[in-house]
Amino acid sequence: MLYALLYFIVGFAIMELSGWIIHKFLMHGPLWRIHKTHHQKTVGVFELNDLFSFLFGSVAVALIFLGLESLDARFWIGLGISFYGVCYFILHDVLIHRRVKWLDKPKNKFLKGIFRAHQAHHATNKKEGAVSFGLFLVPKKYFKD
Ligand SMILES: [Zn+2]
Ligand SMILES: [Zn+2]
Repeated sequence: MLYALLYFIVGFAIMELSGWIIHKFLMHGPLWRIHKTHHQKTVGVFELNDLFSFLFGSVAVALIFLGLESLDARFWIGLGISFYGVCYFILHDVLIHRRVKWLDKPKNKFLKGIFRAHQAHHATNKKEGAVSFGLFLVPKKYFKD
């Protein structure tokens, strides 16, 4: 059971780490044409940038299916990635960008920090000069009042 939990945490952590790297070096790099749809005004419900969520989601589903029979590492890593996806959706899409109006502005200190850090990321709508690329891995200063 401990083994399962460890892989679950690994799946979650991999997403934040690889997400940070992909966001900084690919999305604000060669894949900017796709990612810029998230930095500029959206027309309609979806943005081209949602492709990334779809891609990460597919990886998670594939891992879960591959590991389903033996409930091995792939299964638990897949679940960890999925849980990250749910957290990402609730924090990034609902709480911060309010794509669906389910939640009000956060009052909790931790959530406020996450909120401010991501707002700082959106201070620019350009490829260059953006800060704070992670969702959780962000500079500590945003958590101070
Ligand atoms: Zn960005
Ligand atoms: Zn955003």
